[in-house]
Amino acid sequence: MTTHVSIIGLGLIGGSLALALKRGQGVTITGFDRSYKSADEAYRRGIIDAVAPSARAAAKDADFVILAVPVSAAAALLQEAASWELKDTVIVTDTGSTKLPIMEAADGLLANGTTFIGGHPMAGSHKSGISAAIGHLFENAYYILTPPPGCAEEDLKRLQDLLAVTMGKLAVLDAGEHDKMTAVVSHFPHIIASSLVNLLADQEDSRPFIRRLAAGGFRDLTRIASADPVMWRDITLQNRTELAAQLDRWADEMAQVGRMLAHSDPQEVEAYFTEAKRYRDELPAVSENAAQGALYMQFDLHIDVPDHPGVISEITHILASHEISLTNIRIVETRTDVYGILVISFRSARERNQAYDALGSETDYSMQIL
Ligand code: NAP
Repeated sequence: MTTHVSIIGLGLIGGSLALALKRGQGVTITGFDRSYKSADEAYRRGIIDAVAPSARAAAKDADFVILAVPVSAAAALLQEAASWELKDTVIVTDTGSTKLPIMEAADGLLANGTTFIGGHPMAGSHKSGISAAIGHLFENAYYILTPPPGCAEEDLKRLQDLLAVTMGKLAVLDAGEHDKMTAVVSHFPHIIASSLVNLLADQEDSRPFIRRLAAGGFRDLTRIASADPVMWRDITLQNRTELAAQLDRWADEMAQVGRMLAHSDPQEVEAYFTEAKRYRDELPAVSENAAQGALYMQFDLHIDVPDHPGVISEITHILASHEISLTNIRIVETRTDVYGILVISFRSARERNQAYDALGSETDYSMQIL
C-alpha cells in the first residue's frame, strides 16, 4: 500500500524529513515550496517524487500533510487549509519551533473534523534551505508531538508510525508546556546570546582589541546568535508571552547578582558559581545514542596542533579518508604560544567520536572533547 506524504516547505527541515521518510516502505512524497528553485532542486536530487503547483494541490490526495515552513507562514497556511479539499483520513502536522499559536491556527481545520497534530523535531543546523537537507538530521533528537485535546489515540499512533523511520525520539507534550520549556532551554538563551554579542559590539569602538579576545570561548558561547534572524524573529514573536516571563525572572536573577557584587563576600560569590556548576554538571550529556536537547548544538573536537603549514590538510585528509564530514574548522586565535588549538565541528556525536578514533590512531596530537 502506498502512503502519500505532502511536504509544504522544502528547506532544511522539510527536505530532511523527505529524505528520512523515503526510507519508509511505500512512501511517496509530493512537495511544494513557494520558491520554485527549492522545489526543483528537491525533485532533481530525488528528495521528493513530485512537485505540486500549490500548497492546496499538494495536500489534496495526501494521507499526511507536513508543513515545514517558518512558524508565521505555518499559522497562515493552517488557517487557509480549513477551506482546502482534503482526504477524510488525512493527518496534518507541522514542524514549527513554537506550538500554542500553531495549535490555535489549526482551530478551523479541527472544527471541520480534520486531524491536526502539532510537531517539533528538535534538530537543526547552522545552515538552512534544501541544500543543507540530510536524511539523518533527526536521529536521536527529540521529536515532540502536541496532539490537541480529544485527538484520537489511533491518529496519534498513525503519525508516530510514519515518523518512526526518522529515528527521532518521539515524545508527546501539551503545546503550552512545550512553549514554556522551549522558552527556557532554547528561545531565551537565544536572546541572551544575541544580547552578549551586541554588548561586545557596543564596546568595540572604545576597545578594538576586545574583538580578538572574543575569538575563542566567547565565540563558542554565543554560537547560536548566528542562526537565521528571520526564523528567530518569528519564534520570538510567537512565544513572546513566555519570553517576557523569562525576562522578568532573568531581571530578578541579575538583581541578585547585583546585590552579591555589592556585598563583595567571597563565600557568597563562590556559592553562586558552585550551585550553578553542580546543577550544570548533572545535566544529561549528549552521547552517541542519547537524545539532543532543545538547543541546536555542534559537536566539537579540540586538537592541540603544532603551528606548521600543512597541519590542517593533514587532518582533513585523515577525516576524508575515513569518510567523516565536518561542518566547521577553525584555529582558536587566543592561543599565542607555538601550539594552537584547532577546533573541528561535526554534525553528530557519532561523527565526532569517529574522528577522535581516526585521528587518535594516525597522529600523536592530543585531543579533547569538552
Ligand atoms: P528553511 O530552511 O528556511 O525552509 C523553509 C522553506 O519554506 C523555504 O524553502 C521557504 O522558501 C519555504 N516557505 C516559506 N514560506 C512558505 C509558504 N508560505 N509556502 C511554501 N513554502 C514556504 O527553514 P527550516 O529550518 O527548514 O524551518 C522550517 C520550520 O521548521 C520552521 O517552522 C522552524 O521553526 C522549524 N524548525 C527549524 C529548526 C532549525 O534549526 N532550522 C529546527 C526545528 C524546527 P523561501 O526560501 O523562499 O523563504
